[in-house]
Amino acid sequence: MVRRFFRASLMLLLMCWGVLQPGTAPAAPPLEVSAVRLGLHEDKTRFVMEMSAAPAYDIFLLADPYRIVIDLPQVNWNAGEGTAERKGVIENYRWGLFKKDTSRVVLDVAGPVKILQAVTLPPASGKPWRFFIDIQKTDEAAFRAALAEHRQNQEPEQVALVAPPPTEARKYTIVVDAGHGGIDPGAIGKSGVYEKKITLAVSRKIRDLLKKNPKYTVLMTRDDDIFLSLRERVAVGRHAGADLFVSIHADSISRPDFRGAAVYTLSENASDDEAAELAKEENKSDLIAGVDLSAQDDTVQGILIDLAQRETKNFSVKFAEMLTPEIARSGMKVRGRSHRFAGFRVLKAPDVPSVLVELGYLSNREDERILKSGAGQQNLAEAIAAAVDKYFETVDP
Ligand SMILES: [Zn+2]
Repeated sequence: MVRRFFRASLMLLLMCWGVLQPGTAPAAPPLEVSAVRLGLHEDKTRFVMEMSAAPAYDIFLLADPYRIVIDLPQVNWNAGEGTAERKGVIENYRWGLFKKDTSRVVLDVAGPVKILQAVTLPPASGKPWRFFIDIQKTDEAAFRAALAEHRQNQEPEQVALVAPPPTEARKYTIVVDAGHGGIDPGAIGKSGVYEKKITLAVSRKIRDLLKKNPKYTVLMTRDDDIFLSLRERVAVGRHAGADLFVSIHADSISRPDFRGAAVYTLSENASDDEAAELAKEENKSDLIAGVDLSAQDDTVQGILIDLAQRETKNFSVKFAEMLTPEIARSGMKVRGRSHRFAGFRVLKAPDVPSVLVELGYLSNREDERILKSGAGQQNLAEAIAAAVDKYFETVDP
């Protein structure tokens, strides 16, 4: 149904615009979203974007939790931050870069919904281009049917891979994974800083330090403000045949007095409630960004930690144990039980030793100050690079 609207609005666009001829498309200026409005009508909720031009778009539904996803070409967003703005069936919305050339808007909706129409209107009475969708409550069966219809039309998800350079003898490949990114900001600090920015800044510093050592091939899962699903992150490590995967985070917690770094490895049974809660939060990344988990096969999602993984796990634990004292030396406080474990999806490569580092808590003012400062970031990066050196000196994976 949505595809039909797409065609309909494209026709409208062709009629109104009259310049979209094949082969003559000039380099268009970037699309801009200048305003967003939610409108409550008698029997429907309207989500409106004011835009600088008519967008190409793809709309689909997601379940568990209920969401509507609108994919657009890359847009400049000048409509302010998406904040919790409950209206009608829309509980919240957010936007961000989903992948190169694709911006994404995700609407959290209160229950099963259907999209009545998606419309693009040309500029009129002082208003710029407007794109809107009308949403209405529906029943679970109708929602699931629309979901299934969209999925049938989908190509299987392609995992973008970073090709590893040819490996020489005694070279180790390390993947540095900057947590969150793009549409998924991660935790938000006391001062408003986004976790995704901190993780990228520290990850780049780690890469730059490790790259000085010719023994290492260093890859990053992302080197930009872009979203990657947890599965894609795991895939980068696996396809590179990585010897070590380090995922960088800096989360927040409801207790502002809590501070300090901690290192996590994978386990189906969490070491404590706090670790379990943290893994739950981190695993939400895909939900926040509107990744359709149900369409993925379960090779990564459902991997059981069996005997084959035990060796990998042992290496992960060894690295985690080397990392903690290095972080303590960097000046960052280290949590009491500094090595913990839980079911982090990003650590689920069965054949790549993987750890997740929480550099500190953005919910704590002192930690946040360190994490935001260039010197603090550099100290943490040096600590992690030093631990990598120690690990490969003593362990031969
Ligand atoms: Zn995180």
